Amino acid sequence: MISDNLNFVKSRIESVKHDQEVELIAVSKTRSISEIQEAIDAGQFHFGENYLQESLEKISSLKNSNLTWHFIGPIQANKTAGIAENFDWVHSVDRLKIAKRLSSQRDPNLGQLNILMQINIDKEETKSGLLIEDIPEIISEVKELPNIALRGFMCIPNPENSAASFSEMAKLVSKFSYLDSLSMGMSADLELAIERGATFVRVGTDIFGKRSYN
Ligand SMILES: *Cc1c(COP(=O)(O)O)cnc(C)c1O
Repeated sequence: MISDNLNFVKSRIESVKHDQEVELIAVSKTRSISEIQEAIDAGQFHFGENYLQESLEKISSLKNSNLTWHFIGPIQANKTAGIAENFDWVHSVDRLKIAKRLSSQRDPNLGQLNILMQINIDKEETKSGLLIEDIPEIISEVKELPNIALRGFMCIPNPENSAASFSEMAKLVSKFSYLDSLSMGMSADLELAIERGATFVRVGTDIFGKRSYN
């Protein structure tokens, strides 16, 4: 049952000592509207999606439920308008061009779009994200864009050393006093991430069960 799973994930979050506020994002990629509705009925309001096309129907059918939608997947430049118009947070901004497009395509009447820059914390060739050394320069430009608000960083670490990578992320975000958000930790490692300062954990499998594709 989704509601039992949600309660169990919440109890795992509470079992970890932490001072920061932690928001649980239910990653609903590949899940149906009725599965999402079950989570809503159990008190879940933040959802994460990876694919624009798949998410639009869900967002529009559930628009009366007062949900917060997080885009967490890789971003192609031709998808930025749909993301800017329909999401509240974007966790996977990995280049300046994408940040500029999101800002110019965001309707100012919606308020600023919240942005996290994705960091390739373990410098893995198979993963997208910025390298730490590129951060200061990009941030100085992203901060000036009018319709997005840079809030922090996101990472998907190599599971083999996620604890060390989470600590490195915490150190990085602490260098910028105006940043307040750190998106890290999934089903398998959310405790480690919270211990090290995560403010968003992104959990799919442990809420909705195994996915048949990614
Ligand atoms: C799919 C996905 C998740 C959820 O992963 P689970 O292992 O199912 O909890 C979290 N973050 C990102 C970026 C994802 O793509």
